[in-house]
Amino acid sequence: MNTSIYLDYAASTPIDPRVAERMYECLTSFELQGNPASLSHRYGRAAREVIEQARVQVANAIGATSASIIWTSGATESNNLALFGAAHYHADRGKHIVSARTEHKAVLEPLKRLEKQGFRVTYLKPDQFGIVHSWQVQEALTDTTILVSLMHVNNEIGVIQDISAIGQLCRDRNVIFHVDAAQSTGRLPIDVRTMKIDLLSTTAHKIYGPKGVGALYVRRDPMLGLEPMILGGGHELGLRAGTLATHQIVGFGFAMELMMAEREVDQMRLMTLRDQLWRGLQNIGDVDMNGHATQRVPNILNVAFHGVEGESLLLALQDLIVSAGAACATGSDEASYVLRALGRSDQAAQSSLRFSLGRFTTANDIEIAIDSVTHEVSRLRALTSGLP
Ligand SMILES: *Cc1c(COP(=O)(O)O)cnc(C)c1O
Repeated sequence: MNTSIYLDYAASTPIDPRVAERMYECLTSFELQGNPASLSHRYGRAAREVIEQARVQVANAIGATSASIIWTSGATESNNLALFGAAHYHADRGKHIVSARTEHKAVLEPLKRLEKQGFRVTYLKPDQFGIVHSWQVQEALTDTTILVSLMHVNNEIGVIQDISAIGQLCRDRNVIFHVDAAQSTGRLPIDVRTMKIDLLSTTAHKIYGPKGVGALYVRRDPMLGLEPMILGGGHELGLRAGTLATHQIVGFGFAMELMMAEREVDQMRLMTLRDQLWRGLQNIGDVDMNGHATQRVPNILNVAFHGVEGESLLLALQDLIVSAGAACATGSDEASYVLRALGRSDQAAQSSLRFSLGRFTTANDIEIAIDSVTHEVSRLRALTSGLP
């Protein structure tokens, strides 16, 4: 029997059984196995029809028209397409890009490549709570700025950026605005029109859908020019070639619809559980919350346990699945660059753990998590202070 407690939903969510069932139907229905680009026959058209339904489901979550949704393999690919696509297409207008130090690697690494290609990137430093202020963006904009890329919700600390204010700034200056919304789509209200977003990345496996499918919203009025990265049969308005994965897309669409339908109830429940967890962990003493106290999502809690090595704590907590920093940064001994960007010391960053909760987390899970963390932190602290 599996007795582990999973508190790593920000790295990936398990597939909701209702989504899995919908995907299974899709995988086993002969009718839906046609190539969705083969519109000349019934099988192709049937597959196309369910894909277009999913496109509406994803578009509805961000206030977009379905025609502006491009299917990709996930938020990493969406970010790559948004950044390379916009930078290369609009390079004749300027070569300056604005982003932040606390972005996901799937934004920072493409930006690094763009710097090698002659683009100049300004990486804004957030304040000690993780907020990037709109005045910082304003100050960074120059006559040659073509693109601003900022995430909506940070995956390590859960802080929410003021996307509307920054979007308005960019729109006023005719600068393209890209938002990595992998952690916020389906969780927070998003309206690409009022928030003045030009490009938005999202993914299925953070919202109880399957891994390997995501989307990029591309503003259509007028159509924003992007240089495609994957060339082939001209699928997805010529922006992303390749035969569409019908079952993946159907799972993504349905997962998004469930998120939207259950959002308010889910968020209230998660907030209660997170507060329960934080109260319990505070009782350990000498702990700090990383991030912003109020401007944050209910499902992520990042805590520094002073005097304890995060990696040792992680190893000791065998049956508690949490992260030290982001999933993609594990394996390296480096302290989280996100926490370092907030001005945390290497030591404080290294003694931090991220707890991320989700749809299948129970109050009992939280109690067990508090007990085991309390036990192990006390034990490890006693060890380092030389007490028996
Ligand atoms: C998970 C995540 C990504 C990467 O998404 P994939 O679908 O795994 O490629 C990008 N950005 C943020 C903020 C994320 O949380």
